[in-house]
Amino acid sequence: MRITGMRTTPVAVPFRTDEIWAFGRRRGQVSVLLELETDEGVVGLGEAATYPSADIVLAVFASLEPLVVGADPLRIEQLVRRIDVVGTWHHVGASSPAIAAVEMACWDIAGKVCGQPLVNLFGGRFRDEVEFFWYVARAEPDEVAEEGRRATAAGFSTCYLKVGADGPRRDVERVAALRDGAGSGARIRVDANEAWSPGSAVRVIRELARYDLELVEQPVSGRNLDEMAHVRSRVDVPLLANEASWTRQAQLAVIKAGAADVISVDNQMDDGLANLRRSAGMCEAAGLPVVKHSLGELGVALAAAVHALAATPNARPAHQAYGALLTDDVVDGFGGPAANYARGHLAVPAGPGLGVELDRDRVERYADLYRREGAGFGFHDRERVHAAAALPKF
Ligand SMILES: [Mg+2]
Repeated sequence: MRITGMRTTPVAVPFRTDEIWAFGRRRGQVSVLLELETDEGVVGLGEAATYPSADIVLAVFASLEPLVVGADPLRIEQLVRRIDVVGTWHHVGASSPAIAAVEMACWDIAGKVCGQPLVNLFGGRFRDEVEFFWYVARAEPDEVAEEGRRATAAGFSTCYLKVGADGPRRDVERVAALRDGAGSGARIRVDANEAWSPGSAVRVIRELARYDLELVEQPVSGRNLDEMAHVRSRVDVPLLANEASWTRQAQLAVIKAGAADVISVDNQMDDGLANLRRSAGMCEAAGLPVVKHSLGELGVALAAAVHALAATPNARPAHQAYGALLTDDVVDGFGGPAANYARGHLAVPAGPGLGVELDRDRVERYADLYRREGAGFGFHDRERVHAAAALPKF
């Protein structure tokens, strides 16, 4: 079997409210959809988050084409290593979302060839459905409380709140508001995206602990594991590594440094689903659960993640997805807005491969939106990018 063509389609799907975090703002999700065509008529679907930008991801796809077209889509490990080594992409982190999309599409082809849902190629269902959190972007405390009420009403058990965008005092007010809105039974996770100094992190986390936090995600720089271990030794709330743990090599360093209680993994940032499963295996051996990070994704990438996470025993805490923010999707009956989740959970798709198909009308609608307004959907707030603070902010 040979890959005969790669078709890429950038799409932009609006959020219902802007995503605001410590260093930026986004008004919607831009993804590049990938269709890998083969000489046997089977087409594999993939999706790349547009990190750090859509232009870069599209350029990486173009550069990969000579390595991908002509390759056997069932020799997935060999193809990814050929891209990494022959393509000399192994040292360039920004290339990973496009590589991961090719890998994802190959797994879709493999599942379709076998007539099996992808989860069965990864060892089968350890769980039938995968839990995701309700994403609360930075907002005023009364708006945060309202988001907590929405999350609980929609049946989500875990709320995730961005902190670190402005002063710690304001974040304490936001967390208090979220606890008030979501109720005493909700799990609350906060993500500072590295904004705090070690001293600030210890002080703020101790103060926030009274609101019964599930996890604090990347409170201090992910490039200084001694700082992370120092903070971890001085607070009772478990810490989740994220910016410190993009790759398997980085995750191993976090484990060795004793720098986190839970580790973020992300197939889009480390060449694909096979590596996500390797990451989870390494963390399992260290006694740590894993959480899937998301750069934002639509139903194709989300389905791929659900297959991998359903087969992974220590992928237990609620994972990151964008259901609370997305207004729509490009696949039918999977992902998209929170209303499509059952109590915050997504069931593993039953069809062969990823088990999702593109809705052509919606792909065309959101491809058109990307053509018209895609430049305004980037990761950075263009109005404020020059005013952004360096690390640590507080
Ligand atoms: Mg994070």
